[in-house]
Amino acid sequence: MILRDVEVRGRVVDVRVDHGMVTDVAAGAASGVAAGVTAGLRPAADEEVVDGHGGALLPGLHDHHVHLHALAAARASVSCREGLDAVRRAPGERVRGVLFPGSVDRHELDRVESRRPVRVQHRSGALWMLNSAALAELAPLPHLPGVERDAEGRPTGRLWRLDHLLRGTWPPTGDLAAVGRELASYGITGVTDATPDLRAAPQVPQRVTVLGRRKLLLHDHDLPDIDALAAAVRERHDDGLPVAVHCVTRDALLLTLAVLDEVGRMPGDRIEHGAVVPDPSAVAGLHVVTQPGFLADRGDDYARDVDAEDLPHLYPYAGLLRAGVDVLPSSDAPYGPVDPWTVMRAAVDRTLVPAERVPAATVLAGYLRDGDLRPRHVRVGAPADLVLLHVPLAVALRDLTGSAVRATWIGGSRT
Ligand SMILES: [Zn+2]
Repeated sequence: MILRDVEVRGRVVDVRVDHGMVTDVAAGAASGVAAGVTAGLRPAADEEVVDGHGGALLPGLHDHHVHLHALAAARASVSCREGLDAVRRAPGERVRGVLFPGSVDRHELDRVESRRPVRVQHRSGALWMLNSAALAELAPLPHLPGVERDAEGRPTGRLWRLDHLLRGTWPPTGDLAAVGRELASYGITGVTDATPDLRAAPQVPQRVTVLGRRKLLLHDHDLPDIDALAAAVRERHDDGLPVAVHCVTRDALLLTLAVLDEVGRMPGDRIEHGAVVPDPSAVAGLHVVTQPGFLADRGDDYARDVDAEDLPHLYPYAGLLRAGVDVLPSSDAPYGPVDPWTVMRAAVDRTLVPAERVPAATVLAGYLRDGDLRPRHVRVGAPADLVLLHVPLAVALRDLTGSAVRATWIGGSRT
């Protein structure tokens, strides 16, 4: 296949893709070469030619923190962003709600829907709320710290961080193939799945890096003691695995930094989220995987709910870069918006702590690194994980909309 007249790093070129690789890049016929001079690649017999019309050709984007199974399930669920009325209106024998910003117990959920089993996930992903019918399906519930109980010892319906308890107890929800298509529609050709203890890569066309054991989840309301976390980090490091520590709160970050001081840092160690970073210089040398999309999605709530002393340090980006921190953009989908162009816009337009704004090109450069954090380029010998835009890059970075994406290839296959 030849991609004709595509913009690569500011030049209009022709790019040949063969057997899943970029095999040739040549100045295109439309690049201003004087008449009469041969330019561009000549297609072989039967070779497909795609005319790029000067649109940018980029390496496919890599989302550095996503939860694929949860994203598929969320797409098969009703959104409770605006409240629980969506549960009442939902079709089906069971109702799975997501993105609910509040907290209710089973009695409150029963008043919304008592007949069908209902599970509603808090938008943080940390809490499931079940109505009585859904609780009855799980009876007897084991005595685990995450199972909230009332004074009489009966489950309230609130289950904290107990996804593994619920997993597999309902018919499978969600369609990973559809998730793969959705990601490709934004130009995403790779993801890092940050689901803790995930063993096998979910089946999507994208290249999937699995954090698995590297991911250390800190329960924000119940942080481990320093020795326990140090032991967990040491165990991974001893196995040659850099860690990826989930740090949403100031305390979680400070604990993690203290542990890394004690155990020693390993190249590749990363802070997931970095939602509150009071002192960027303290994380210099680490990778911070951030989600500017939350600022657009939840900015008003943050302005209202986040502690005043944390607010100036919320999801920093520019300040981290200035301090020499390697920052990687991501979505944390389904909890944050998955569209990388929306994430870029949020990083550019943020109204909370505007001093942390960064140019869209900076965020895009992060998306163009692979799961091992290596930069990628459209060049001979690179895998043909490519995204073709309708417009030159400068236009796409100004407009910041996923509709700029015209086509996506993974390993040379159109996706
Ligand atoms: Zn996450």
